[in-house]
Amino acid sequence: MHPNENRVGAVARMSVKTEVFIGLGSNLGDPIGQIQTAIDSLSEALEGLTRAHLYRSKPLGPQDQPDFINTAVQGFTHLSPESLLSLCQQIEAEQGRIRTQHWGPRTVDLDILYYGAHNIRTDVLVIPHPEIMHRSFVTRPLLDLMPQGLMPTGDHIDANRYDFSELIRIDHHKD
Ligand code: ATP
Ligand code: CA
Ligand code: CA
Repeated sequence: MHPNENRVGAVARMSVKTEVFIGLGSNLGDPIGQIQTAIDSLSEALEGLTRAHLYRSKPLGPQDQPDFINTAVQGFTHLSPESLLSLCQQIEAEQGRIRTQHWGPRTVDLDILYYGAHNIRTDVLVIPHPEIMHRSFVTRPLLDLMPQGLMPTGDHIDANRYDFSELIRIDHHKD
């Protein structure tokens, strides 16, 4: 018997949890409320959920649409990346997201930003999300969650590289 068998066995039986970061955005139908509702739904699948501040910004792409509210959450999940994507899409559907134009208005958008240190590239999933470093409305909330900017993959968000002046920080609703 391997001297570590019991300990290793115990570890193997423990269900593995993975640290995940999810970005949320909304610009239709009470965006702050939409984000709050989506976070409540996510909290059923993410243990120890921590949320960043909310930020208001001008839309990316078509300008003839309301301002966006964005934030991000961090937590630990037993779900596989595919199951987590399904959950995100289920939450989007429940909240009435209808896909129209690319980058157009949406009630809520949930993007899996990081799934532990994993790099995933399938037909339906690219993780880390490829646009993280190009979007201040994503890096700003991530810096709330990880002030040093050191993400699970080892990626580093350098706060000095961004102009956050166009993001207006607002508080979450008090529950
Ligand atoms: P962007 O990805 O540039 O932020 P978007 O969020 O508007 O654009 P969507 O229409 O919400 O894009 O998503 C299109 C598809 O992206 C989804 O059907 C999903 O399969 C895929 N996808 C790939 N990687 C991810 C990810 N990390 N998180 C969520 N969806 C992803
Ligand atoms: Ca998105
Ligand atoms: Ca999306």
